[in-house]
Amino acid sequence: MRMDAGHCAALEVRRGATGAAEYFCRVYERRPQICRDLARGSPECEGERATKGARVHGGVSHLT
Ligand code: SF4
Repeated sequence: MRMDAGHCAALEVRRGATGAAEYFCRVYERRPQICRDLARGSPECEGERATKGARVHGGVSHLT
């Protein structure tokens, strides 16, 4: 999983009908095993993201 600006480089953010940010995986069909093993938004998922995000010294505040 390659990180970019504190989030996964495959993550795509779109604006939904209500204007809210919606998150999509551009490589969903071939996403890494870790993404299949961890439930989206679970503490383990958040932990993985935090660990990887900290390495890139960036955040996702500009996406919301
Ligand atoms: S499912 Fe995995 S590869 Fe896809 S955006 Fe999320 S972290 Fe990235």
